[in-house]
Amino acid sequence: MLSSVLSREDCAKCRFCCSFRRQSLWETPLFDGQTAERLAELYPGAAFKPREGAFTIDIDGCYATDDPEEEALCPFNRGGCVLGAEDKPFDCSIWPLRVMPVNGHNAICLTPTCPVISAKPLSVMKELADGIIGDRILEYAAAHPEMVKPYREGFPVLREETDV
Ligand code: SF4
Ligand code: SF4
Repeated sequence: MLSSVLSREDCAKCRFCCSFRRQSLWETPLFDGQTAERLAELYPGAAFKPREGAFTIDIDGCYATDDPEEEALCPFNRGGCVLGAEDKPFDCSIWPLRVMPVNGHNAICLTPTCPVISAKPLSVMKELADGIIGDRILEYAAAHPEMVKPYREGFPVLREETDV
């Protein structure tokens, strides 16, 4: 999460993140193979499955019903995320931003589901994406294409890679 625009207090009141509706499983965070293997050994109960060149948490068996709105917790959320900065997935580090392909290039997009960010003017997030944080996000995504997820309708585009 981007601490420059989100406070711990905001998130403690909301707690939307770190659990996934069955219909939102495309959003589960991605890990490289070595990290996934190491974390699976360190945290019994945390399972992974491959996804398009990377690995993601396998929580398919954590749902009790077929309700698409039912949520299942990330196995690393144990009263808060237990992962240190070195293991924190790219997705989680840049939340509520996302890198997705737009017009054939990587773009920084905004997740529309965070209530705190949605209450801010879009210009605040655009300024963030246009700054050095956005530069670093796009650089990382260019070097790790397996961490880029397909574009989703309804995600505002804040910055395209062609702007670099
Ligand atoms: S949705 Fe937004 S406010 Fe809620 S926990 Fe996630 S980052 Fe925090
Ligand atoms: S890895 Fe940590 S920050 Fe990311 S979804 Fe899981 S608990 Fe949340």
